[in-house]
Amino acid sequence: MRALVKARAEPGIWWEDVPVPQIGPNDVLIEVRKTSICGTDLHIVAWDEWAQATIPVPMVIGHEYVGVVRQLGSEVDGLTVGQRVSGEGHVVCGRCRNCQAGRRHLCINTSGVGVNRPGAFAEFVAIPGSNVQPIPDDIPDDIGSILDPLGNAVHTALHFDLVGEDVLITGAGPIGMMAAAVARHVGARYIVVTDVNAYRLRLAAAMGADRELDATTESIEATMRELGMREGFDVGLEMSGSPSALHDMITHMDNGGGIALLGIPPRQAPIDWNDIVFKGLNLQGIYGRRMFETWYKMLAMLETGLDVAPVITHHFAAEDYEDAFAVMRTGECGKVILDWQT
Ligand code: NAD
Ligand code: ZN
Repeated sequence: MRALVKARAEPGIWWEDVPVPQIGPNDVLIEVRKTSICGTDLHIVAWDEWAQATIPVPMVIGHEYVGVVRQLGSEVDGLTVGQRVSGEGHVVCGRCRNCQAGRRHLCINTSGVGVNRPGAFAEFVAIPGSNVQPIPDDIPDDIGSILDPLGNAVHTALHFDLVGEDVLITGAGPIGMMAAAVARHVGARYIVVTDVNAYRLRLAAAMGADRELDATTESIEATMRELGMREGFDVGLEMSGSPSALHDMITHMDNGGGIALLGIPPRQAPIDWNDIVFKGLNLQGIYGRRMFETWYKMLAMLETGLDVAPVITHHFAAEDYEDAFAVMRTGECGKVILDWQT
């Protein structure tokens, strides 16, 4: 099969012919239709410090995809050949304390599709049957291919109650924009989004934000006044990984507010701990998606009017992956889709 392979321990990604994955009794073989590119894939291609410490080579990468079930292991129940599916990208052990307690998103032995084990930038991907997520017919393939990052947005956005609340989202990357759409859908009052990229701020407006601010030139304070907000934001969704964005967020939270942290900051980012303590803020780290409550709610919201389509800005045939990665690197994009059936 054709696949994008991290073939060597150096910058780059290679278009290769590799064997179709063999499945075990508990696995499912999926024929991939569309994939989308994640920031993680850029790190793997660039072969940065994180990638060097994490990614086994050679390995097929990619973890955001939609496809069709082609083969079921002998022990797999409840799925059928020909069914349209996506897959939870975190493969968990089922045996650790959190797995046994039903908190599988906190498994201590998590293995990532396209990160620790072979991924989906290929004609076929194999995952455990328990990770397969069927997709309702009325959800198009494009949306099916971005359920993994949409799940990050949903998991983060739904951690704190948003109904009638004022929400600050720092980072209008694809996940921040989708979080704005989720916050709107579930009934937040004001949604303010910050970024440093004008293209992305424009997209955030199309996704349901009330105000989009350039963090380098515009003031959150002034926007709050304009909106008639007197006290501060009730909920913060940190989706940039930028220490200065986190600092701005903490400064503009109301007492007792909640901050859900998805963005990955440098290991040692300075924080004003006085604000955390004296404001009584709640900080919650977010990893992946809840298995499988996030999937349930995400699909339910998509079927009842949640519209994240504007986040998809580019399509390429899979073999034009170099152009697709180049667009990703410019930052002038939302989600970039690779089509594997051309
Ligand atoms: P992204 O890199 O496309 O988006 C981040 C955005 O933050 C960019 O648009 C960037 O311009 C913006 N930004 C940079 N500095 C800023 C500042 N000072 N203020 C406001 N915005 C600023 O990433 P994404 O795919 O949308 O993901 C969002 C974040 O979540 C990333 O940090 C990513 O690594 C992380 N992530 C975490 C998980 C998890 O499980 N915890 C999963 C997926 C992604
Ligand atoms: Zn576990």
